[in-house]
Order: sequence, then C-alpha cells, then structure tokens
Amino acid sequence: MIGTVGHSDWRERLPTNIRELGGIADTSVQLALDELLSNGRVSTSTGESLFLEADLLDVMLLGHAIKKSRYENEVYFNSNLHVNTTNICVLACRFCAFRRGPRAADAYALNVEEYLHRIRPFSTRIDEVHSVGGLHPEWTVEHYAELISSAKEMFPHLSMKCLTAVEIKHLSQISGIEISEVLSTLIDAGLTSLPGGGAEILDDDVRKVICNGKESSEEYLEIHRTAHLMGLPTNSTMLFGTIESASQRITHLDRIRKLQDDTQGFQCFVPYPFLPDRTRLPQAQHSTGSETLRTISISRIMLDNVPHIKAYRMNIGDYLSALALNAGADDVDGTVGHEEIMHEAGSLTSVEDDLDRLSKLIEDAGGVPVRRSTTYDQFVIHRRRPPSDDQRWVSLPVADMV
Ligand code: SF4
Repeated sequence: MIGTVGHSDWRERLPTNIRELGGIADTSVQLALDELLSNGRVSTSTGESLFLEADLLDVMLLGHAIKKSRYENEVYFNSNLHVNTTNICVLACRFCAFRRGPRAADAYALNVEEYLHRIRPFSTRIDEVHSVGGLHPEWTVEHYAELISSAKEMFPHLSMKCLTAVEIKHLSQISGIEISEVLSTLIDAGLTSLPGGGAEILDDDVRKVICNGKESSEEYLEIHRTAHLMGLPTNSTMLFGTIESASQRITHLDRIRKLQDDTQGFQCFVPYPFLPDRTRLPQAQHSTGSETLRTISISRIMLDNVPHIKAYRMNIGDYLSALALNAGADDVDGTVGHEEIMHEAGSLTSVEDDLDRLSKLIEDAGGVPVRRSTTYDQFVIHRRRPPSDDQRWVSLPVADMV
C-alpha cells in the first residue's frame, strides 16, 4: 500500500475502520455513512445537516475513517517553494490582503531573472514551484511562458504548478486568445498543473460581495474542465468563513464533485478559512478552529471522487493542521519556503524550509510521512532514524519502508 494512490475499495473498508475508531452515535453522521455505503455518495441535504446539527467528533471520526480507508496512516507532503510573480492586480477582491495598485510603494512584478533568483537558493531541495499572483495589467501569456520555460531550462527537475483560474481568464482576455490556447502555450512552456486558488465559494451571490469582478462560478469550473480535458491536473479550493451559508458550502462541494464525475482531473481539494487581518470584509463570520476541522471533515465526506484533502498549513497553522490529519485530511502541502498571500492576511505559520520538522508534525499526529511529487505519482517515505542515531530523520526509498 505505501506509496500508492490509495485503496480503490475504500468504501468496503469503511465499516471496519468506523468500528475500530469507536463507532458513530450521531444520527446525521450515521445517515451520511449509510448513504456512502448504499449509494456511494452523501446527499446535499445530509451534507448540510453535518454542518448544522451533527456532533463534531462524529463528523471528524467519519472524515478520518474515510481517510484511513483510502490511505491507511500515510500523510503526504511535498518539498516546494511558493514564488508570487506580482502583487499588482487590476481587481480588488474584498477578502484579499495581498494585492497592490501599480503605484503602491511595495508593489512588485518579477522579471525572468528575478524569478529565477527567487528559486535558485532552494532549487536543490525542492521539486515543485508554486506560482500565483495578481492580475497584472500588461503581462501577456508570453511573459508567463517565459517564466516557466526559463525555470524549466535552468532547473529541469522542478514541477511548475502555476496560475489560478482567474489568472488564466485574465491572460485569455489580455492576450485575445481562447482559454485552451493560453493553457496549451503554458503546457508547451513546461506547466505541470494548476493550483486550485480562486474558487472561493462557487455561488455567484457570494462572489458578487467578496470578489466582484473575478471569474464567475461557471467560468472557474469551465477553466478547470478545459485544463482536465487537455490532460492538465488541477487542485481546487474553498475559502469559507466570509459571508456564505452552510447550504452554499455544500453547493460548492457538490459542484466540484459533479465536475470531477465528468473529468477526474482534480487531484486535491484544499478547504481553508478566511483570515481577516488587514482585509476589507467586516461582515465576515470568521471560522473557529472547530468550524475549520468540521469543514475539512465534511469536505472528505462529500468529495467521494476527489483523491486528496489538504490541511493547508500556511492558512490554518501547524497545530490545527495536525488535528486535521485525524479528521479527514491526508496532505499537509509542503515545505513552502516562502509565502506571502496568507501571511499578508495574518498567518503566523512558519515557512521554515525543514523536511524533518514537517515529518515530525505528521508522525506526532500518528501518520507516516510520505513525500510526494506534484502529481502524486512518486513517493518517498521520510522517517526518523532510531533514537540511538541522534534523532535524525532520513528519506528512504519506498521499498525500505517496514
Ligand atoms: S484575490 Fe487575486 S484577483 Fe482578487 S484582488 Fe487578490 S490578487 Fe487580485
């Protein structure tokens, strides 16, 4: 099992894992389990009741049992670096603390040399660059193609996970070409996958308030559909704790799983709460830690066809991420090295580039740390040497795992 993409018969394994974890008492959670076992899928009405009335510990237990049935104790991470290309943006989403106007004193836009300069110090210990940024008023698709191809030329081992759906839409508009042409240009330059950012809540009433001017829900889904049909894997996200209702969160999850039914192109789903500092959304409800854990668990329960659920450390922090690994999440993103978007909004999560510290977080939560590639097709166990060996950690090939 170690280092594979999980058990396809996870539903059959579920009753045993539920039993071993102590069983379920809550009626809504039991109904969700019954639906999973009989129909293969939890209905939207049951999903809503998991938000509104179900016992938190039972929701977490079901989320964790599904995770264990799929991946046993494995927890995935990668060794990556976040490089934001520019903070200049033509939009001004109300939740965003990252964007700047072009004349702001701290506005920046990386040229190719500056981009490579950011990567170079990390290049020997990472295998992925995650690059997103604002919607620059002048950059066309050629600029991004040059950034990606230059990085691939200099560091051929790196996967390039770049550009959210709204950036792809912006490039299509500014370059006057179809979405598919933007994607094919970037794929030719070396693009590996798309991150999932920008999904926020896939409900246009919510989007009008929190990110007016951004792509519509339908456009977000269509851009990901186009990517999937072109063979480009993507992630998806959910930004919760702004103004949305439980029903709108469930609509979001349902829209993701319906697209996934068609394309199977989503690799990972990343639910994270709105961080309020320095942003402009006073009416936001803000998520508590309990609400965040519940939402991660419900994401695992509802998204029966999306392989991985991520506890996004850069947003929810290490402590909550560790708890999320026992509530349905099987991935903690990566070493990251540098991060601006969540830290501008108030995140205090360490970006210390330390595989051992990340592996310790996973092991202390009862997991087996598995370093993965961007596309979840290469795996290496990263585990502690015996105590006599100075408590140091080591990466082992999968075959050496006992
Ligand atoms: S969320 Fe993205 S599109 Fe919206 S203002 Fe921030 S950088 Fe611009």
